[in-house]
Amino acid sequence: MSAGDPHPEAAGASRVPHVEQPEVAIRGRAGIFPVHRIYCVGRNFADHAKEMGAEPSKPSEPPVFFMKPADAVVADGATIPYPRGTSELHHEVELVVALGAGSDGVVAVEDALALVFGYSVGIDLTRRDLQARAKARGLPWDTGKGFDRSAPVAAIVPVAESGHPVDAVLSLTVNDRVLQRAPLSEMIFGVAEVLHELSKLYDLRAGDLVFMGTPAGVGPLRPGDRYLAAVEGLATLTGAIAA
Ligand code: MN
Repeated sequence: MSAGDPHPEAAGASRVPHVEQPEVAIRGRAGIFPVHRIYCVGRNFADHAKEMGAEPSKPSEPPVFFMKPADAVVADGATIPYPRGTSELHHEVELVVALGAGSDGVVAVEDALALVFGYSVGIDLTRRDLQARAKARGLPWDTGKGFDRSAPVAAIVPVAESGHPVDAVLSLTVNDRVLQRAPLSEMIFGVAEVLHELSKLYDLRAGDLVFMGTPAGVGPLRPGDRYLAAVEGLATLTGAIAA
């Protein structure tokens, strides 16, 4: 590229690009966890479904699923710029499941937990205004849910250390105020059921993350806010929205 090249970006774009593998830290280990896909469960806590004006999931019907891009992950301790395209960024604290093995075809409920590498805590950041508009028009949720830096997640705790959490408390504190707090036992679909249901639709793979849904108390994150998300006794996640 010479000085005065009228199309400098085009010259760079002709090179074969290097694309980084999205990754999450693993607690207590030097290695990283490579992210393949990010699945999310909607309406998995009755009190949150109600606060959104929706019916809670029924165990007799399939869960609500949506996805985020793998490179939406944000590491613990990060400061996130307020996203473009919204004036209503919301927090949703969630248990995160990390898969260490995959499976072609449907995984039985009783086999599903064997796929789990570990657990963590994350925030399903949501552009609520865009999601609400999409819902009202019967359109997909992608722009409200699957955007850049929409998936802060703490270092993954290997299952050998975490066990399979069933009644740990999920909580979110913003600027020292507790805004969301509920035991995981309130989830309508547990981890094994969610993996079973997901596997009816997708081939599960090592590197998949599953955000398990949020309890009541969602609300806005504003520039300058600091958050502390936790699966108490298991994992904590800190961060901030840029001032
Ligand atoms: Mn969510």
